[in-house]
Amino acid sequence: MSIKLDSRIPEGDIHEKWKNHKDHMRLVAPNNRGKIDVIIIGTGLAGGAAAASLAEMGYNVKAFCYQDSPRRAHSIAAQGGINAAKNYQNDGDSVYRLFYDTIKGGDYRAREANVYRLAEVSGSIIDQCVAQGVPFAREYGGLLDNRSFGGTQVQRTFYAAGQTGQQLLLGAYSAMNRQIGKGRLQMFNRHEMLELVVVDGKARGIIARDLVTGEIQRHSAHAVVIASGGYGNVFFLSTNAMGSNGTSVWKIHKKGAAFANPCFTQIHPTCIPVHGDQQSKLTLMSESLRNDGRIWVPKKKEDAEAVRAGKLKPTDIAEEDRDYYLERRYPAFGNLVPRDVASRAAKERCDAGFGIENNATGEGVYLDFSASFVKYGKEKANELDIHNPSQEEIIKLGKKVVEEKYGNLFTMYEKITGDNPYETPMKIYPAVHYTMGGVWVDYNLMSSIPGCFVTGEANFSDHGANRLGASALMQGLADGYFVLPYTIADYLADDIRTGTISTDTPEFEEAEKQVNERIQHFLTNKGSKTVDYFHKKLGRVMWNKVGMARDAEGLKEAIKEIEEIRKEFWRDVKVPGSDKTINMELEKAGRVADFLELGQLMAIDALNRNESCGGHFRTEYQTEEGETLRDDEQYSYVAAWEYNGEDINQEILHKEDLNYKYIKIAARNYK
Ligand SMILES: Cc1cc2nc3c(=O)[nH]c(=O)nc-3n(C[C@H](O)[C@H](O)[C@H](O)COP(=O)(O)OP(=O)(O)OC[C@H]3O[C@@H](n4cnc5c(N)ncnc54)[C@H](O)[C@@H]3O)c2cc1C
Repeated sequence: MSIKLDSRIPEGDIHEKWKNHKDHMRLVAPNNRGKIDVIIIGTGLAGGAAAASLAEMGYNVKAFCYQDSPRRAHSIAAQGGINAAKNYQNDGDSVYRLFYDTIKGGDYRAREANVYRLAEVSGSIIDQCVAQGVPFAREYGGLLDNRSFGGTQVQRTFYAAGQTGQQLLLGAYSAMNRQIGKGRLQMFNRHEMLELVVVDGKARGIIARDLVTGEIQRHSAHAVVIASGGYGNVFFLSTNAMGSNGTSVWKIHKKGAAFANPCFTQIHPTCIPVHGDQQSKLTLMSESLRNDGRIWVPKKKEDAEAVRAGKLKPTDIAEEDRDYYLERRYPAFGNLVPRDVASRAAKERCDAGFGIENNATGEGVYLDFSASFVKYGKEKANELDIHNPSQEEIIKLGKKVVEEKYGNLFTMYEKITGDNPYETPMKIYPAVHYTMGGVWVDYNLMSSIPGCFVTGEANFSDHGANRLGASALMQGLADGYFVLPYTIADYLADDIRTGTISTDTPEFEEAEKQVNERIQHFLTNKGSKTVDYFHKKLGRVMWNKVGMARDAEGLKEAIKEIEEIRKEFWRDVKVPGSDKTINMELEKAGRVADFLELGQLMAIDALNRNESCGGHFRTEYQTEEGETLRDDEQYSYVAAWEYNGEDINQEILHKEDLNYKYIKIAARNYK
């Protein structure tokens, strides 16, 4: 065992930890920052924020992304909003409450100190983004507007219609551009990191491939920041952008970075259900819709069957024959229970035969806005002094209000499904969405490889076993704008005299050789099956046996099956074309090769955790009411895995104990 986990959580009261830590970390003086190079992999919100901030501070930054522009990073897809404890609504929000909700939402499997810091800096994120010109929605008085997300009883989610991620990314991108213009930030679009280079135990560079020319390049730096997003696409079908992958995180794992809680995957309850097997992506309908949409299935099985057979429309089912199962089971939170709870409840109803969708598995439930049309319509009629409006008028007015809030989401739904959600309820079903697991990092966001930092969805740190909505954007931006700029300086203070790191060394040569050998293997293998064939096969095992519900037997089977798929992949994959041009099959081959190892580790981690918590639901461990049953005695730890050679079964488990001093651990209850 070579890895020693040291979380480096500062001493002292939780309210003071971050402040004291900042006061005592080492600094790099402005006149020395130009002597230091930093590589950032990823220019989504986490990497873009870090790139802009570090370049603004005066470091030489090289940023990489595989898209043709940072503006296309997957963060652009975020719809619903970003949390912050500003308490504009006077509804009792505070830093502590955001901290508390996040720890509870994560089913008590997140690190207290990190989460408190996140809540603490959340307010500054909003200020910074407003200053950048991000057009957050505003209420009548001019203050920023807020809405609710699952797992909270306050309104703390800031939003820009249904395009929050896009607007935030444009803010970060313009901050980056300022520095690109000055020459402090060099942008490498359409470049993919394929190896980390470690020299004397420290991260000192990367090997990247220019995806357009195929050129293999060496880039050196004093520190490397990985902000490469999540690995949900290991399931093949997910809400993630199709290019999202786990290559960077897996590559650094193989070079010594512990991988934490790989099995913690978030399944989002409101996606458009799967149709057919030619689909390669699932579309998310934002959680914000649960503010105004009510979720239901028919109460009677025969109605559900008739709906699936196309003989009955949802609008024909009387109010008393509808089962608003979330409101029934969880009266306190209703439709705004956290995602894991809502997802499992939908699965339970569909497994019991009440699903409404006419797909292979009959899986789907309704998200219905009709009650909101009436509620908002009445309010609007009053506002407009319309007396005794007809029901028709009310509904028309209400639809307008809903359109203002979520219009682009409704249009997107109609474009994809052909159904008009103003006239008929949306059909939704859970899908893989976000990975709470990721590279283990200490309080300074440094992995177990010195000089290799990991931020945003790529690290494991802040969400525990389940992420509450609107918290990923908050974490990515907190990491990039407000945490890393401090903590990386503490590390880089040792490097002001090091000088430029040479790329002409055996370490770079060896890493480049590994990359070239792999590419050549793919191109000369001449197998008979496409990369997608293997990815789909992996995805099926992952969804069926490592998905929304897992058990020991299924997980053991999955571990073996994934190993078999991997062997077959290396034997029989076919990658056409050359390495000297754009070759998307070649790109995918490398990514799927890494997913095949990571997927196996996810199953191993899920098998190791003999409890249910958050998104990790082991059917053997549930209460009589079907809720998660944690085992805090045995499993209140972060599972951090150390790579130990090609046989993934040999990975070594390290444990970081989780201690809750400021929050009383309890069974999670949303009733
Ligand atoms: C449909 C959808 C809606 C969402 N809505 C919300 C929401 O409303 N609120 C919320 O808080 N969260 C939301 N999320 C989650 C949130 O969007 C993501 O968790 C977050 O944007 C991730 O940001 P990131 O910067 O960590 O990674 P990303 O935005 O995924 O960026 C990854 C970057 O890494 C680069 N990269 C990856 N691998 C390599 C490599 N090998 N070499 C070079 N570059 C590489 C990519 O090019 C990209 O620039 C949503 C997610 C989805 C899928």
